[in-house]
Amino acid sequence: MPPEPRVAWEQRWHPLREEWILYTPHRGGRPWIGETHRPADVDPPAYDPACALCPGNRRLRGENPPYAGAYWFTNDLPCFGPDAPDVSGGDDLYRTRSARGTAEVVCYHPDHGKTFVDLTDAEAAAVVDLWADRYQALGARPDVDHVLIFENKGSLVGTSNPHPHCQIYAGGLIYGHIEREAATARRHFERTGEYLGRTILKREEAGPRVIAANDDFLACVPWFARYAYEVFILPRRPVASLADLSPSERASLGLMIREVATRYDNLWKMPMPYVMAIHQAPTDGGDYATYPFHVEFHPPLRKPDTMKYLAGPEVGGGSMTNESDPDEKAAELRAVAGPHYKRMAR
Ligand SMILES: [Zn+2]
Repeated sequence: MPPEPRVAWEQRWHPLREEWILYTPHRGGRPWIGETHRPADVDPPAYDPACALCPGNRRLRGENPPYAGAYWFTNDLPCFGPDAPDVSGGDDLYRTRSARGTAEVVCYHPDHGKTFVDLTDAEAAAVVDLWADRYQALGARPDVDHVLIFENKGSLVGTSNPHPHCQIYAGGLIYGHIEREAATARRHFERTGEYLGRTILKREEAGPRVIAANDDFLACVPWFARYAYEVFILPRRPVASLADLSPSERASLGLMIREVATRYDNLWKMPMPYVMAIHQAPTDGGDYATYPFHVEFHPPLRKPDTMKYLAGPEVGGGSMTNESDPDEKAAELRAVAGPHYKRMAR
């Protein structure tokens, strides 16, 4: 294995997305006179009568039952839906496809004021079990080619409701990163006989970017991180989806997600916003045995009050710039183990 350079002013190849990322850690401390954002650290009430996700409350369509644990329902305004119109198919250039499928919301807990960090071991496992059930049930539908499970946490990533929840988009679309990862991992296997997920795990497990580990999973800031505090949870065993995990591995994944979320909050003693996405094999009937199942966390902040804006290079040019050194960011997250700072204060 070649030695890894210590100072990361360089371009690095993202082995899953197959794209170059520019690292400019010497620019991370540049003077900033722009807008700053620090997430509000308020404790929401256990029940909010205006919340569409709290037990017993009315929604746009329908009403939540007085649920006790993890609970899912069909999104009232789904992005994929059974009522999406028929389409003509367009022409060679301007093609169209139907938007059929479904979208669901998963509440982690009936308590409006909790987040994933507050779940007990059993509650965290129950959320992962429910994700696995929904992946299988939705993936079996003929109108669903892929099941994307993701959590947008915090107002900086567009979530106005703090109730602990995530979303599931399931329709005739394999999301772009997933499609790319599936193709990349397949080619890697053909070329080397190795699972790409395992190859990356082997690189990371001995290195300086591990932030937490248990019997079944490892959490790290990957060498090819696109965001300053990006974290991947990698399975120790090559699996393609939640459906491949044993009950004890699902419980183990729940604990690792809670561990990562706790370290994020502890970092600056405030609720850390992030986008979490579960990357798993498409369900369009193809062979995805080599797909590298993993969980990705993308926090938008690079400092407690400073956003990583996607601007000229990212939006205009289409390639990411990361103003930090992944080794250093991993060390920061490694240093802030649990318990959660709010429990320490009590
Ligand atoms: Zn609520």
